[in-house]
Parts: sequence; C-alpha cells; structure tokens
Amino acid sequence: MAKDFDPQRLDVRRFAENGAEIEARAGLQKFVRLSAETQGLETPVTVHWHARGEMHNPHHVHPQIWVHVEAETTLPLVCQRCLNPVDVPLNVSRSFRFVADEATAAAEDDEAEEDLLALSRSFDLVELVEDELLMEVPVAPRHEVCPEPVKMSAEDPDFEAASSERENPFAVLTRLKSGR
Ligand SMILES: [Zn+2]
Repeated sequence: MAKDFDPQRLDVRRFAENGAEIEARAGLQKFVRLSAETQGLETPVTVHWHARGEMHNPHHVHPQIWVHVEAETTLPLVCQRCLNPVDVPLNVSRSFRFVADEATAAAEDDEAEEDLLALSRSFDLVELVEDELLMEVPVAPRHEVCPEPVKMSAEDPDFEAASSERENPFAVLTRLKSGR
C-alpha cells in the first residue's frame, strides 16, 4: 500500500483516508541541508523516519486530516569546546493537522496546539522530515565530557625525559676505547 504513495509528492488527504504509513531509511547525503550541518565529517549516517496518516471524524462534514511523523538519526557535529567530532542523536515526534490552505493555517495557528500545514496533493514529506530534524540540531553542540586530547609524542613530558636521559653515543664510544 505504501508503494502507492510518493513521499515527495504526497496526496495528503488520500494518505490520511487510507490510514497509510510510510517508513524509510535514507543516507544523510539525501538531506542536503542536514548534511551541511556536519561540516564535511564523512561518517556514514542513516536517517530513519516514519509517517502515518489519520483521519479524525471521517464522517464529519469537515474531517480532520492528520499526519504523524517520527524521525531519528545521529549526526556527527563539531564539538564547540574541543573541536573534535561529537555524535548528536536527533529525535523527532510530531503531529501535523492539515487545513484547507495557508490562510486557514495562519488564522487557526494561534489557537491550535498542534502544528498546522496547508493541505496539498503533492506534499513533500521528506522536506518536512528534514525541517523537523534541523530544528533539533543544537546551536552549540558539545560533548558531555570532552575526550582527553591525544598526546603528541614530541609534547609528551615522558618522551622528553627519556630522550635527555639517553646516553650520548660519543660518551659510550670513548668509554669503550679507554677499556673502562
Ligand atoms: Zn568536546
């Protein structure tokens, strides 16, 4: 049944009338704006999302058209404290009510607790998923506890100590020659 619905050109009313569902897993590269947040960190990332249509009061003159969206992924971001990569899990779970048009959505928006969107026969659900995930991206991503910086051997105090204690090769040679 899900095959009948194109998530990027969704007939929202029909989707809701059928109580249809779409589940998808897609590579992060398909989400250009979300992908840009990783600043080029090339980790394979999968975005998993699910949408379900629902008609409230289907026999009413004006039945309510709902779409419930869930999405999750783990985005590699740059920690703003240590500048190392940090994996940030993102989770979205939202319900949208679709109304006749943009004007109705704007007019009813103040009173409605849910998010309102304009009904469309060619709705881009993938874009909505991306919009919602983008809203979850933290402004300043950080590790809860930043990893210890990796010591470079030249800056390692033990390394410095070891090299200065190493015997001068000429001193060794002189000692051998003198038979001591
Ligand atoms: Zn950090």
